[in-house]
Amino acid sequence: ARHPGEEKIPSPLLSADGIPLTLLANANLVKDARSAFSLGAQGIGLYRSEFPFLIRNGFPTEEEQYNVYLRVVEETPGLPVGFRTLDLGGDKLLSSQVGREDNPFLGYRGIRFLLDHRDLFRDQLRAMLRAGHGAEISIQFPMIASLDEFRTAREEVLRSIADLQAEGIPCHTAPQLGVMVELPATIEIARDLAQEADFFSIGTNDLIMYMLAADRANHRVASLYRSVHPGVLRALQRLTEVAHDTGRPISVCGATAEDPAMILFYLGIGITRLSVDATSLLGVARILQGISLSEAQERARRMLSTSTLAELDSLACAIRGEFS
Ligand code: PEP
Ligand code: MG
Repeated sequence: ARHPGEEKIPSPLLSADGIPLTLLANANLVKDARSAFSLGAQGIGLYRSEFPFLIRNGFPTEEEQYNVYLRVVEETPGLPVGFRTLDLGGDKLLSSQVGREDNPFLGYRGIRFLLDHRDLFRDQLRAMLRAGHGAEISIQFPMIASLDEFRTAREEVLRSIADLQAEGIPCHTAPQLGVMVELPATIEIARDLAQEADFFSIGTNDLIMYMLAADRANHRVASLYRSVHPGVLRALQRLTEVAHDTGRPISVCGATAEDPAMILFYLGIGITRLSVDATSLLGVARILQGISLSEAQERARRMLSTSTLAELDSLACAIRGEFS
């Protein structure tokens, strides 16, 4: 018999009607990667690389970053690791970093900061590419707002690979490169991005905030900040359609991937790849196993054709009740 603490995500992980699903973990620290591995996650879907920076409130060297990233890779042997480049700014500030901004969430954050600090960007990419030598890694860029930004970021990756190779330093030479979808505009240009990016990773924490103009950290607008909103749901559905049309993998790594109502919705619109915090992995795995895809499609259709928050809330509450 299994003892408490020994429960694992089944492998393969299947929906109630036998469809294979992918459940990955978000990791902020090396220990998150370790627990994701021991719980049977299929990989790291989002490694938030800013945490080593925040802990020391400064910029670690390439070598220091390499050591941290290597440990993440080593803690998850044989599994893919999705590195995200630095996402400072917004609610994740280094006091030494950018100076005060009146609207940090609309300011100097994510890829904007790194494209302006190419030396830091290159240190980080080199560290990731070196740590990924002999492993399966991907790199995703936060807060991408245009094809131009994605191209510039990709050029930096290719340049870092060429530099490392010229220096004879072992590294991953062909990581998958993805776009984090966190801005409404990014959904509108998804078809163009899909021509050049290898995958989409939806950051609903930020996407919801920017779609609904409600700060994710401001309790006074907490009731306005919601995934179960007709605008948000329809935008997610359109984005997923683009990903399917263009053959690009798509996943969700925001906290909505832990909500039974949203999990059902995601499966219903064809997103079968979720990344959640290690502490939520087992709960989400149980929910996924209880959903049949045909049922999810029906429920998602219903959610997409519902116009009011009140009606959507009652649909969502009913689903949450079924899975509690
Ligand atoms: C998100 O925005 O949903 C996301 C996963 O990124 P973070 O929470 O780190 O901003
Ligand atoms: Mg985000």
